Amino acid sequence: MLAMIMPMSVSDPPPPTTAAASARWKRELAEAVRDPAELCRLLDLDPEVASPANAAGGGFPLLVPRGFIARMKPGDLTDPLLLQVLPRPAEGDEVAGFSADPLAERQARRAGGLIQKYTGRALLLLTGGCAVNCRYCFRREFPYADSGATPAGIRVGLEELAADFSIHEVILSGGDPLLLDDLQLARLVAELEAIPHLRRLRIHSRLPVVLPTRVTPELTALLAASRLAVSLVIHANHAAELDDTVADALTGLAGGVPLRFNQAVLLRGVNDDAEVLAALSERLIDLGVTPYYLHLLDPVRGAAAFAVSEARGRELLDLLRRRLPGYAVPRLARERPGEPAKVWIA
Ligand SMILES: *Cc1c(COP(=O)(O)O)cnc(C)c1O
Ligand code: SF4
Repeated sequence: MLAMIMPMSVSDPPPPTTAAASARWKRELAEAVRDPAELCRLLDLDPEVASPANAAGGGFPLLVPRGFIARMKPGDLTDPLLLQVLPRPAEGDEVAGFSADPLAERQARRAGGLIQKYTGRALLLLTGGCAVNCRYCFRREFPYADSGATPAGIRVGLEELAADFSIHEVILSGGDPLLLDDLQLARLVAELEAIPHLRRLRIHSRLPVVLPTRVTPELTALLAASRLAVSLVIHANHAAELDDTVADALTGLAGGVPLRFNQAVLLRGVNDDAEVLAALSERLIDLGVTPYYLHLLDPVRGAAAFAVSEARGRELLDLLRRRLPGYAVPRLARERPGEPAKVWIA
């Protein structure tokens, strides 16, 4: 059965057994780089960079898998992947308008780990953990442990989902929901499938990009077998994130997940450039992934250095529309607390 959903040619080596595949991503996660001095060594950067990074990381320290570091350009402090993960001293600055909970998510909690803002769909927080700490993350100060991203909170969230017939789509989120292993996910998906009014399962995960070995044959098989219509929203901000290891993971996933989307955040110094955004869209399309949202940065404390104005966002989108087919142009959007949907800017 695995052979049927994993496209492979006769010359490929046999796929790793599921146990080995599972051990591999867990090992890579455990071996992710947490020490700025080590990151500097790996990238031939001035060691001077490390100590402000240590200080700035604070409660949201450096975390980045080695496979993601391998896609960065050594010696380049402006590398767009490095900028996303390296703590910078300016994170400590208080900037007007930037707060700990910019989306008022604490108010959108329903019960346990269930967050609902929009009609018909709700988000289940499975864990506070991620394989990478993105410096611009809007949940960088989110109190996961108090917000139901725990086994007990998931249980309460499932009960709430089962009791609300108006919810037809559940979105697995976090943190990163694919940090749960295949067995945990299989159990959870079985519980979701048992809720008759649920029709769709969506997964929001950055793991296929930052830790592509997480895409095990077992994960694909599990999603392929679900009675729910499964979609996946990955998160990449720059084409350089999407190397061949990611391409292989996405090819594997295609066997179980018919709809694959990407969300990106518009980030100063990373992708606030028409060439860069066009290259990202084209690479995604080539990998069978539709660009979905290009988010304006949520004004979370510590991330002000990444902000790009709405006017510049519109300008960039206009440039994209002039050079790409319509299906490759993401929706430029921002979230405003209290609005019934994400606000489309262009
Ligand atoms: C972004 C978000 C969604 C998904 O919105 P779509 O427009 O359906 O992609 C759902 N729930 C919450 C709480 C969100 O923040
Ligand atoms: S992977 Fe997503 S949730 Fe985790 S730190 Fe990055 S942006 Fe935040």
